[in-house]
Amino acid sequence: MLKRQTEGLVACPSCQKIVKVTEKKCPHCDRQHPAMWGYARSLRQLGPDYGFIRGVMWGCGILYLAALLLDIPGIRNEGFLDLLAPSGPSLFLLGSTGSLPVYDIGRWWTVLSAGWLHGSLLHITFNLLWVRDLAPVVARFYGGARLIIIYSAATIVGSLFSSTAGQYLDALPDVFHGATLSVGASGAIFGLFGAMVTYGQRLKNNEIAQRAWTYAIVLFVFGVIMPNVDNWGHLGGFVGGYGVTKLPGFDPLKKEKHDHVLLAIACLIATVLSVIASVGHGLSLGIL
Ligand SMILES: [Zn+2]
Repeated sequence: MLKRQTEGLVACPSCQKIVKVTEKKCPHCDRQHPAMWGYARSLRQLGPDYGFIRGVMWGCGILYLAALLLDIPGIRNEGFLDLLAPSGPSLFLLGSTGSLPVYDIGRWWTVLSAGWLHGSLLHITFNLLWVRDLAPVVARFYGGARLIIIYSAATIVGSLFSSTAGQYLDALPDVFHGATLSVGASGAIFGLFGAMVTYGQRLKNNEIAQRAWTYAIVLFVFGVIMPNVDNWGHLGGFVGGYGVTKLPGFDPLKKEKHDHVLLAIACLIATVLSVIASVGHGLSLGIL
């Protein structure tokens, strides 16, 4: 657990100069609460991402296991792509998103929970490998708190795109259908690409921007070719990550502030609540 420091010295997270833990404002850079209410040292020990990436691995892993265990007879094994696929009802209970839960049943909070659920062993393996690869880069570019905000925003926008397309763009060909039901962290992953594009543009570093674009486009086309991929979720995730990092508080040349930490904590609480609400509401509907 996080340990609170009540006396002594700590490095200001913005300017790295040494300040007293009791200082309300950094005398060197004017940052508010440089000791972050005594938690600055503990947070720093969690790493530049504040332990978020490990949290994604554990959170997604535990929810994937839970989805399997909740409905063991319902587990599907249809070929390599659908090996160890949790049943539809158990994913629905834990909070899959899409036009059915969001528009038909009113489970609007699933736009967040669905980003932490996965539909097969291959799906979760691929997504977590991408998160492990990209999230540390985005944490280095923007800071750990802003990583959490970007990740959450991309998850929400990706889910909104696929649910809305699923509801209103039914007439389009299959690949651009949107989703009746959808799970997965890929919206967030595309959001990380979007954030990297913004970073490259802001620093006028064409190599970073171009590489992020290339990865995003190749993965997007890959999704269009593969069956059953939520392409609107990918597009929405990219738009979410790119859009958020265009906001004034996300200038990568400026260090993150304690407001970002508070907003990141709010994102994490909202994520946990979205899963709890899904299960509570799902049980009241008699799912499973
Ligand atoms: Zn400072």
